[in-house]
Amino acid sequence: MAGTGVFAELVDGDGVFKYYSYGEWKKSSSGKSVPIINPTTRQPHFKVQACTQEEVDKLMEEAKTAQKSWAKTPLWKRAELLHKAAALLKEHKVPIADCLVKEIAKPAKDAATEAVRSGDLVSYCAEEGVRILGEGKFLVSDSFPGNERTKYCLTSKIPLGVILAIPPFNYPVNLAVSKIAPALIAGNSIVLKPPTQGAVAALHMVHCFHLAGFPEGLISCVTGKGSEIGDFLTMHPIVNCISFTGGDTGISISKKVGMIPLQMELGGKDACIILEDADLDLAASNIVKGGFSYRQHKSLYVVSSCGQRCTAVKVVLVMESVANALVEKVKAKVAKLTVGPPEDDCDITPVVTESSANFIEGLVMDAKQKGATFCQEYKREGNLIWPLLLDNVRPDMRIAWEEPFGPVLPVIRITSAEEGIHHCNASNFGLQGCVFTRDINKAILISDAMETGTVQINSAPARGPDHFPFQGLKDSGIGSQGITNSINMMTKIKTTVINLPTPSYTMG
Ligand code: NAP
Repeated sequence: MAGTGVFAELVDGDGVFKYYSYGEWKKSSSGKSVPIINPTTRQPHFKVQACTQEEVDKLMEEAKTAQKSWAKTPLWKRAELLHKAAALLKEHKVPIADCLVKEIAKPAKDAATEAVRSGDLVSYCAEEGVRILGEGKFLVSDSFPGNERTKYCLTSKIPLGVILAIPPFNYPVNLAVSKIAPALIAGNSIVLKPPTQGAVAALHMVHCFHLAGFPEGLISCVTGKGSEIGDFLTMHPIVNCISFTGGDTGISISKKVGMIPLQMELGGKDACIILEDADLDLAASNIVKGGFSYRQHKSLYVVSSCGQRCTAVKVVLVMESVANALVEKVKAKVAKLTVGPPEDDCDITPVVTESSANFIEGLVMDAKQKGATFCQEYKREGNLIWPLLLDNVRPDMRIAWEEPFGPVLPVIRITSAEEGIHHCNASNFGLQGCVFTRDINKAILISDAMETGTVQINSAPARGPDHFPFQGLKDSGIGSQGITNSINMMTKIKTTVINLPTPSYTMG
């Protein structure tokens, strides 16, 4: 259960979860709290502290100081602590999962999987950090015209300083550790601002790092509404780098902040192009897996959440000649999805907030008015929306372009692969895409033509395995994630040049 056992110290006398600063769990002096609404019951379930600007200032100063000595901590020791935190995350997967069920309606089994995946990510990151941060470059000057060999250049990777991490609600633990672990192994300190829906799960995760014994001040976690403290955090002068995952908020943050490195992982409208020669059974199961649920049958990480994934399939572009057959196969699979509360491990659970459900409904009504074919009856109870496939969607419908972040999937019928590529590239987003065909040559040509950070051939889009590079083009992001890229992104290169009095040629 959340806030019990080793997690009891996270809760204050009024049942409000505390924030984390200088190795301690604290009540905010604001005396205010932010409620977290359970998406299933639509009732307040948890409360977190609404931190003040003064509290943020204090923990930023602490993070700056703690980072200086952390940067002098041997790499193997940093890795050792991360391995401890990873083990603790796995050990405490049940209470963490309990929070995810209540805060974001993640199905129970999948919620536990998120904690385990996060532990694995932290361990991998520790190992990768030891490998790549222990290496640098050695260059000699005479490879550049006009130079003798009088200069030896040594490069190494040094930390950036204080990293601000802001993850989204849909993976509040996994997308937090994907920022925290690279930051720490690279010698940075971290200030985490978790999403409000998912904050309590994130606080439990932070406690695992606390129990692992990281130095005071190195990790802080500040809670409160992003709309209230977000600007203060992102524009804070002590912050040396921001790693953000979320929606359009990331675009406005990028416009406001100063000259610091940004890692932005934003929204997507991942297209799934189906050619005439595709294996339609494979395509249909991937569309259902990718569009409606997180579940990935071949992966250890079996997770579900009704389209609330940045890399969900968000538009199907199918060749007219196979469209009827494909739609029938997808319909048959959609009919088998279970719909209900996360506690029952249903495939389709309530979406995160009432306003998200209203937004999705707006897209559905627009498509209805403009003549889309409804493959199922539209059904909604509270935040729970039954899976819906919309056929014969046309480019004048909002659902053709906008990200529903819910269990509603549009199908656009195309007459050539070029038409599919054109639709994909006309989107403001460029996160991932996928193509289904038995012809690898066509697959490569289409993959090269799609303006997205990743293209999956014969599988639904997916973030992960977590060490694969993951990036969005256009409005889908800045920079690249994936464990190795995140570690590199959270460092800068330091060069030392040894100047010799005379040219020196080894063995010369
Ligand atoms: P969101 O509304 O953009 O929120 C993301 C985070 O930003 C939350 O922690 C939020 O805190 C915080 N925030 C809000 N206003 C802020 C401000 N002014 N300054 C700083 N932080 C602020 O996104 P979401 O609804 O949580 O997540 C859904 C979106 O994330 C979708 O668009 C999805 O595609 C995208 N996503 C992308 C990836 C990827 O890797 N590309 C992965 C997952 C999700 P509060 O909760 O307190 O408002």
